[in-house]
Formats: sequence, C-alpha cells, structure tokens
Amino acid sequence: MDYDTYGSTAVELAIELANTERDDPGWVRAFLGAHEEWFTAGTSFDLSPGETHRAAATADLVRSVALAESQADVLQRLNELLALARPRPYATDHDGALHLHFARPDSPALEQLTTTVAMGLSQVVVQHGWQRLGVCAAENCDDVYVDTSRNASRRYCSNTCASRSTVAAYRARQKTD
Ligand SMILES: [Zn+2]
Ligand SMILES: [Zn+2]
Repeated sequence: MDYDTYGSTAVELAIELANTERDDPGWVRAFLGAHEEWFTAGTSFDLSPGETHRAAATADLVRSVALAESQADVLQRLNELLALARPRPYATDHDGALHLHFARPDSPALEQLTTTVAMGLSQVVVQHGWQRLGVCAAENCDDVYVDTSRNASRRYCSNTCASRSTVAAYRARQKTD
C-alpha cells in the first residue's frame, strides 16, 4: 500500500477496528496490544466494561461511515465520530519515521484510540473523498476497506478476498461454458 499520499496509517487503525471480531470479551485488549505503536508506552490496555462498550460504538461508527452512500450521511456520521475525539496532536519519530500522533500522550487508551481513529478516517475523507471507503465485494465477507490505490479501483478488503473471488468467478464461467 502506498501510505505516502495519505501521510498517515491512522486510517488503517480505524479500518482494522471496524473489522475486528468482538465475540471474545477481551477483544479490546487484544486489539490494542496488536496496535500498540499508536499508544503511549505504559498506557493501560485494561478497559472497563463501559469503555469497552464505547470502543465498540466507535468501531460501529467507523463502519457506518464506510457504508454510507451519500456525502450527507458521511458527514453526519463522521462528525458524530469526531465529536468523540479529543485531539491534541504531536509530532514523533518513535519508530524512526517522522509522523503525527493525534491524542494527548497521557490520555487513557480509549481516548487515544477514539481520537486516532476519528482523525485518521476524517483526514482521508476530506483529502481523498468518501468514495475511497467501501465494503468488500467478496461473498461471505462484509469487512470495510480504505482504497489507497492510485486509480481508486479497489473492491476487496484483502488480497485473500480478491483472489478467492477471482477463483470463484473463474469456476462459475467454466460451469456455464
Ligand atoms: Zn507512531
Ligand atoms: Zn473481504
């Protein structure tokens, strides 16, 4: 993926949050642990049930932005998400590359998560258009994605879904031939 034109991978955090399975009650802790680069070292990943519920609501909002079919709907849902954010950006090179983090470094994990996700997603929408967000076209998959391809041609959440669908389409053609 070409992150250069996007300036930030924060939108990927948003997409991955929206696509995360929430069956296991420990899903937030697992998600935060898997994306710890976005969180200040030492931040507690133990969320209360109330905070876990709010993290789920944030995930649902990201998904609803990606599924929206008009600019009016996108704006309404995006602004709902942004209202949950508490941005206080700072520049960092903690991983060797200069980039922005969006939340106050000493804020709780939920605030860092919600803020990063809201800022990352809204940046892409206002700079590149809400049409860059979509839902996977593969059968049996409803994951959302952000299209960072140069010609905005993406239809699948992942290479796995893309090749699975290509094979399925090929088989379907073989049958009708
Ligand atoms: Zn970072
Ligand atoms: Zn998919």
